[in-house]
Amino acid sequence: LFLDAPLEAGREIPLPPAQAHYLGSVMRRGAGDQVLAFNGADGEWLARIVALRKDRGSLVPDRRTRPQASCPDLRLLVAVLKREAMEWVVEKATELGVARIQPVLTRRSVVDRVNLARLTAIAREAAEQCERLDLPMLDEARPLHGVLDGWDGTPLLVAAERAGAPPLAAVLEGLQLPAAWLVGPEGGFDRAELDDLRRRAFVSPVGLGPRILRAETAAVAGLALLQARAGD
Ligand code: SAM
Repeated sequence: LFLDAPLEAGREIPLPPAQAHYLGSVMRRGAGDQVLAFNGADGEWLARIVALRKDRGSLVPDRRTRPQASCPDLRLLVAVLKREAMEWVVEKATELGVARIQPVLTRRSVVDRVNLARLTAIAREAAEQCERLDLPMLDEARPLHGVLDGWDGTPLLVAAERAGAPPLAAVLEGLQLPAAWLVGPEGGFDRAELDDLRRRAFVSPVGLGPRILRAETAAVAGLALLQARAGD
């Protein structure tokens, strides 16, 4: 259970309505039951439910069951996609252990903003589900060129279809984190963006095969390969 509060032994924490509802109505828990709780900073705790009514309640952390851990520095940069696809990507990227998600605005982007509150809630739920103790950092959508101008030099693998780029699998050997994976919008990167990307020393265009994948498929397929090679 994700709680947006410090976790300390013996310190009672009021449950927000959504969490109280989830525990009572979905998980069928009640006063006296135990749950595992985390907040992204203090590790995982076995906590006892003190009181639980319809949409109110509280719990007390008893003992820490896992120390705080953070995922290795694998980042996803993804063109802002339509709402459902974006939410799916955030959920799957969280499950795959991505440390940071940067939505980027490109020339062919058809959506120009993200609902960060909603995406944060989705990342929290995904972290709960996969028992991850940290949350990916979620950034506001920013123009691609601005992100590249301020880039810290971390190797950036760019998903480039039809560009004669080497397959991602071929560059995995020797890959170390930190690394980042960039996927374009449904309409693809335009010529100027691809040229700009290729000029940057930290960029390597790579392919995922001859088929044109949906952006969300490319995002998750690439992350799975990168995670299998370099993550933990
Ligand atoms: N409109 C483009 C076209 O028809 O050529 C397709 C864009 S694709 C739907 C969206 C994004 O997914 C691309 O910008 C790229 O980053 C990634 N992508 C899709 N298929 C890919 C592949 N086979 N290899 C590498 N990246 C791919």
